[in-house]
Amino acid sequence: MPAGTLERPCPPPPGVDRALDAVEAKVEAGERLSEAEGLALYETPDVHRVLAMADRVRRRLHGDAAFYNINRHINYSNVCALSCKFCAFHRKKDQDGAYEKSTDEIVRDVQAAAAAGATEIHMVGGLHPWLPFDWYLDTLRAMKAAVPQIHLKAFTAVEIVHLQRISKRGAEGFEGIKAVLRDLRDAGLGSLPGGGAEVFDDRVHDEAFKGKIRGDHWLDVHRAAHELGLNSNATMLYGHVERRPERLRHMRLLREQQDRTLQDWARAQRIPAGPAGEIVLTGPADRYPLERLPMPGQAGLSTGYFQTIIPLPFYPNESELEHLPAPTGLENLRTLAVSRLMLDNFPHAKAFWIMQTLPMAELMLGAGADDLDGTVVWYDITKAVGEGNHQETTVADLVRAIRGAGFRPVERDTLYRPVVRDGAAWRVGA
Ligand code: SF4
Repeated sequence: MPAGTLERPCPPPPGVDRALDAVEAKVEAGERLSEAEGLALYETPDVHRVLAMADRVRRRLHGDAAFYNINRHINYSNVCALSCKFCAFHRKKDQDGAYEKSTDEIVRDVQAAAAAGATEIHMVGGLHPWLPFDWYLDTLRAMKAAVPQIHLKAFTAVEIVHLQRISKRGAEGFEGIKAVLRDLRDAGLGSLPGGGAEVFDDRVHDEAFKGKIRGDHWLDVHRAAHELGLNSNATMLYGHVERRPERLRHMRLLREQQDRTLQDWARAQRIPAGPAGEIVLTGPADRYPLERLPMPGQAGLSTGYFQTIIPLPFYPNESELEHLPAPTGLENLRTLAVSRLMLDNFPHAKAFWIMQTLPMAELMLGAGADDLDGTVVWYDITKAVGEGNHQETTVADLVRAIRGAGFRPVERDTLYRPVVRDGAAWRVGA
């Protein structure tokens, strides 16, 4: 061996992208990543390093815990005034397959769910042209009267805007949205799901879901909910007509809104904000202690906040965009990991098994996800596998998937508080 050989730096093994070193150093230090750095994570051939970074961040936040819940989805009607190109769910009033559930049917569904141990009802539907606003209030009240303990997570932002339009409450704009949300909250609404965000970009909006609300309107609805103390989630439907930089902008807009929402809480918790007001929760333990995550009732937390980012792959089947290919498994893993790394002020990242499949969701627990969602039971909206809308999984399957991935299963309620259970009876634990 010639003299000096050992002093020469080893060339990187094939597939190792040295351009990621600086990005990884920022992740290690708990510094916020830029959109350009997000794009580097998206475009590097070293995808396994990206997944490993997201896994480290996820373990900082949650250790070996992986969450699931016992829930039931209810889609009250698929009749919709809009016709988004990517949507295979909606029907027109007299079209084959159109349906609407009565309040009594919904109450029976809630009672059956509670008898099976559900802690949450997730209820969304189309923008029904004729159901009056009072129907929604009466239905929420009836659901709560039937099972007071159950948490009602309901209505995507576009449904809230539709309800504002039909409510005839008088107020316009942001205050009108807030007035409608206040009425819904007082009738029993507990939180908002994250659906309908798609990708916050006007080009994508006009090409794929013209007629639906734009990103700024979606963010306003969630801001109004947070101001009223309601938590919410956020989705990103990717893999259709959008490009990766547009996904990163979507993440940045969510992250900036969460920064503003968490300012008072971070001050009360003595969590330092960055120079631009950024609140990064994913840094190392010496900077952010384990109890760093916002939880309902904490000091300085008078508002709600975004709990979870849920990246959703687009499935083109039966939609007007059927000619497009669905995203690959690797793209799904990578998008989850990039979301986890970019959304550094979101406490949770979900692998929604209905859209990802349970085996894929199991893999995702090692790539940034800490939550699988729940038992679901019925799901009418786009899904990855299976005919029909019976999409139930069991607690045993969820627990097996979590253990199989090397994590510790934790049953949670909608607000990510641990659940203590005795059969179908349950309470929130410490
Ligand atoms: S995505 Fe929602 S708003 Fe658009 S057509 Fe489907 S149900 Fe209606």
